[in-house]
Amino acid sequence: MKEEYHRQVTAEALGDQLSHEELEIVIQANVGQDGVWNWLTTPERHYDGRFFAKAEAYIDEERARAVDAFHRGDRVAALQAMGRLLHTRQDFYSHSNWMQHCAAKGAAKGAANTAHWDAADPAICLDTQADPQIFGVRAPFLIHALYVIPILGPLIKRIYLPADYHEAMHLDDPSRGPLFAPSLVAARKHTRLEWERVMSTL
Ligand SMILES: [Zn+2]
Repeated sequence: MKEEYHRQVTAEALGDQLSHEELEIVIQANVGQDGVWNWLTTPERHYDGRFFAKAEAYIDEERARAVDAFHRGDRVAALQAMGRLLHTRQDFYSHSNWMQHCAAKGAAKGAANTAHWDAADPAICLDTQADPQIFGVRAPFLIHALYVIPILGPLIKRIYLPADYHEAMHLDDPSRGPLFAPSLVAARKHTRLEWERVMSTL
């Protein structure tokens, strides 16, 4: 998910919970996760690849850090931990096939059936490891390094781009079609849920 959408989703989900300054602390920690080195070396923080267990472990770790910091009265550290975990949680909706999966399931049941698919109010995934059909985008280090080479990169991408690669299936921005907008709604709903989960422990 591109930085501006992490920002938008976080602000929409938590805008009524935090002051402007506090919201900015969460957002800065969130978008700070997207440095190139971080992206290449810790794919689980972006829900990339097949690292779902690692991604959830990372979210659990940061959630525990947030709860601990809130209890200690260190609100800045708590909000920063929230920002980091929310980045991973939000990236699930742009870096997995969850949205495609829900839309296909809804279509199979008929347009009138909104139990599985309502573009305005899509379901969130409460257990990303429960369904083996749900998988994340793959972004192998070397291939990705080749893709970003000017001129040559786009050419390589045209010749070699497996369907489950990040460049083929991500929902990082509106250019990716009709599933992008619902992916933001799902990310927003899950962001709110993560916030409420931490608040319920205080
Ligand atoms: Zn990311």
